Amino acid sequence: FFLVYQPTFNLRDMSPTGVEALIRWKHPTRGIVQPSDFIPLLEATGLIIEVGGWVLQEACRQGASWRRSGHDIGMAVNVSGRQLDTDEFVNDVRSALVETGLEPRALTLEITETTLMHNIEETAHRLTAIRELGVRIAIDDFGTGYSSLAHLQQFPVDALKIDRSFVCRLTQAHEGAALIHTLVQLGKALSLETLAEGIEQQQELSILQEEQCDSGQGFLFARPMDAGAIETFLQTWASGAAPIPRVTADDRLASARSS
Ligand code: C2E
Ligand code: MG
Ligand code: MG
Repeated sequence: FFLVYQPTFNLRDMSPTGVEALIRWKHPTRGIVQPSDFIPLLEATGLIIEVGGWVLQEACRQGASWRRSGHDIGMAVNVSGRQLDTDEFVNDVRSALVETGLEPRALTLEITETTLMHNIEETAHRLTAIRELGVRIAIDDFGTGYSSLAHLQQFPVDALKIDRSFVCRLTQAHEGAALIHTLVQLGKALSLETLAEGIEQQQELSILQEEQCDSGQGFLFARPMDAGAIETFLQTWASGAAPIPRVTADDRLASARSS
C-alpha cells in the first residue's frame, strides 16, 4: 500500500489549505489498484483496522514533515466505519499525533455520512473524544446518505464535504445549482466549513465561488499526487509561481463590477 495526496483550496484566494491522503495498492501483476476495488474487501475481512491504522500513522508523519518545512497545510484522512466500531480508535489517533508530532488541529478525519448514521450513539461518543484531542471532523460524501438534520447537530462536526455528484450536476440543470445553494447554506447555518469535491470545470468553480462555498478539491486544480510531487507543488506555490488557475473570488467580483 502507498498513499497519494490531493490538495484542497480556499475558494476565495485559491491558496492551498491542505491535502487528503488517498490509499493505493501496488499489485504485483495488476499494477496500481484503486481504493474502490479493494477497500470493500478490507472492510469485509476486518483488515481495514490494521491498514487504516497504517494510513493514519503515515499521513500524520508526512503532514508533520511538511509542516516542519514551513507549509501551513492540513492533512485529511479517510476513516472507515469498522475503525470507528472500537474504542481502540481514539487511542490510535492519540498515538499517531504524539508519535509523529502533528498538531491535532492540522488533522481532519473524514467520515462518510452513511457511516455516521450507523451506530449513532457510540459513534457520536467516540467522535466527541477525538474532537476533544483538538482533531477536526468532516462529513465525507455529504448529501448522499440519509442523515437527519437533528442528528447532524448532535455530532461534533467541523466541515461538510459536498459530494461530487452535486458538483457534476451544477452545470447540467437549474436544480443542480439550487441543491448546491441549499447545501452550502445548510453548512453556513450550522457554522460548518463547506468543501466541494470533484470540481472539474471552471464554470463549476465560478458558481461555487458565487455561492461562497469555503473550499474545494478537484481535477481542475490538482489530481492526487505522490509525496514528491506534492512537495514540488507546495514549493512552487510558496515561491509565488501559480501552479493552478489563480482566479480568485475577488478577481471575479472585480471583473463583474467593471463589465
Ligand atoms: P473520497 O474520500 O470521497 O475521496 C475523493 C475521491 O474523489 C478520490 O478517489 C479522488 O481521486 C476523487 N476525485 C477528486 N477530485 C475529483 C474530480 O475532480 N473528478 C473525479 N472524477 N474524481 C475526483 P479515490 O482516491 O479513488 O478514492 C475513492 C474513495 O476511497 C474515497 O472517496 C474514500 O472513500 C476511499 N478511500 C481512499 N483512501 C482511503 C483510506 O485510506 N481509508 C479509507 N477507509 N477509505 C479510503
Ligand atoms: Mg474523503
Ligand atoms: Mg468524498
